[in-house]
Amino acid sequence: MRKPYIAGNWKMNLTPSEGKAYAAELSAAVKKAGVDCRVMIAPSFVSLPGVVEAVKGSDIVVAAQNMANHLAGAYTGEVSPEMLKDIGVNTVILGHSERRQYYGETDEIINSKVLLALSLKMEVVLCVGETLEEREGGKLEEILERQLRVGLKDVLPAEMGAVTIAYEPVWAIGTGKTATPEDADSAHAFIRRTVAALYSEDIANNLIIQYGGSVKPGNIRALMEKENIDGALVGGASLKLDDFLPIIIFSK
Ligand code: PEP
Repeated sequence: MRKPYIAGNWKMNLTPSEGKAYAAELSAAVKKAGVDCRVMIAPSFVSLPGVVEAVKGSDIVVAAQNMANHLAGAYTGEVSPEMLKDIGVNTVILGHSERRQYYGETDEIINSKVLLALSLKMEVVLCVGETLEEREGGKLEEILERQLRVGLKDVLPAEMGAVTIAYEPVWAIGTGKTATPEDADSAHAFIRRTVAALYSEDIANNLIIQYGGSVKPGNIRALMEKENIDGALVGGASLKLDDFLPIIIFSK
C-alpha cells in the first residue's frame, strides 16, 4: 500500500518571514484536518531554518529544492547536504526541470547529488520529465528511461525506499496545462516498469511516484484516482493555504 505524498515546491517565492508564517499556518491547518497523506514543503535555502522551526511537532516534511554535489570546500554559492542535515532538513528535491534547463544540470550531475544525499541517509525526490518537443517527437519513453537509468546509477536496491520519483512534464510546469490523468498515469506506469527492470517488481510496486505540472484543487482528485499516481509535486498552487490545503485533503 503506497501512502499518498503531496509536496509543495515554493521555488524562489516567499521571504523567510512570509515562509515561516505560512508554514505555521499550514502546520496548524493540516493538524486540524487530520490528513492521512505525507505532506512536504520545500522553501528556499534561507527560509529553511524558520520553516523547520514553524512545523516542529507536526509530521510535515521540510525539504531543500537542491543541494551541492560536494560535502564542503571551495564551491562559492553552494549549500552542502551536511549543512541541510545540521538544520534538520533530511529531504531534497533533485533534478527539477528548472535546474536542468537554467543551470545546466545533467543526468550525471543529478546522479552525483542523488548518491551523496543517499549516502547521508537523506530522502530524495528525483524529478524526471520530457519537453513538449521530446513528447511530440515520440521520445517520451526514451527520455524517461535515460533520466531514471542515469539518475539512479549505482543507487543500491536497499536505498530505493528513500527515493520518490516526481514525473513532471516540462510543458505542464507553471503553464496551466496539465497532462490528462490518463497521459500522466501511462507515463507513471512506464516509470514503474523501468524501475522494475532496473531493480525489482517489489521495489517498483512500493515506489511513490508524484505527478507535477499545474496541479490545482480542481484536478488533484482525478489525478489521484489513477492507479500509478501516488501524490503530487505542486509549484504555484502550494504558495497559498487556500489552494494547497484542498490539494492535501483531496480525498476527504
Ligand atoms: C513544479 O515546480 O514542480 C511544478 C509542478 O510547478 P506548477 O505546479 O506551478 O506547474
